[in-house]
Amino acid sequence: MPTEPIREVVVATGNAGKLAELRALLAPAGIRVRAQAEFAVPAIEETGSSFVENAILKARHASACSGLPALADDSGLAVDALDGAPGVRSARYAGEQAGDEANNRKLLAALAAVPGHARGARFHCVLALLRHPADPVPLICSGSWEGRIASSAAGQGGFGYDPLFIPLDETRTAAELPRETKNRRSHRAQALTRLLDALGLPGGGC
Ligand code: IMP
Repeated sequence: MPTEPIREVVVATGNAGKLAELRALLAPAGIRVRAQAEFAVPAIEETGSSFVENAILKARHASACSGLPALADDSGLAVDALDGAPGVRSARYAGEQAGDEANNRKLLAALAAVPGHARGARFHCVLALLRHPADPVPLICSGSWEGRIASSAAGQGGFGYDPLFIPLDETRTAAELPRETKNRRSHRAQALTRLLDALGLPGGGC
């Protein structure tokens, strides 16, 4: 049986930065984005050890609580000199309740003795779309954004580690880039382009 086109999704995140980026990226495809806060979806523990596992966990939970198709983003920063850390623990790197500033301070401290040429890093994003909570074939798409970690924070845009992340071929951090530039190039934009492509919706095709 052909599946209904998706016109509305709940985005399974409490992160305002991610929600804003996904809303901007999905609008041209005609998909209405609902925040999980509208349905009082409680946060769940991210117990998976991979981005894929956590994205599915979050999407299934949000779909069950809202009755809508759900899209979850699990993402994070992998730093070469730290063997891929903070990875799936990116949001909680400096502690369970840590905010962006504390996480960024800890990252700068961890890399204090690491020279510029060895500060390579990348953001990863995995998106999982479940049409309903028992969807046996979640649509999974991913993207990554290569760069390096700056020696100090710069910029006011974006969220998370953006003030420390200098994308490849850039001299500015992701927090200094125009919002449209980040939304065209980021790990999240790449993953979403692939997702829209898989759904046959405009905006896809990378
Ligand atoms: P999650 O909510 O468990 O997926 O955690 C994602 C975390 O990874 C965020 O809280 C940020 O610390 C980091 N992160 C993911 N994407 C970005 C981005 O686009 N810019 C900066 N930090 C990001």
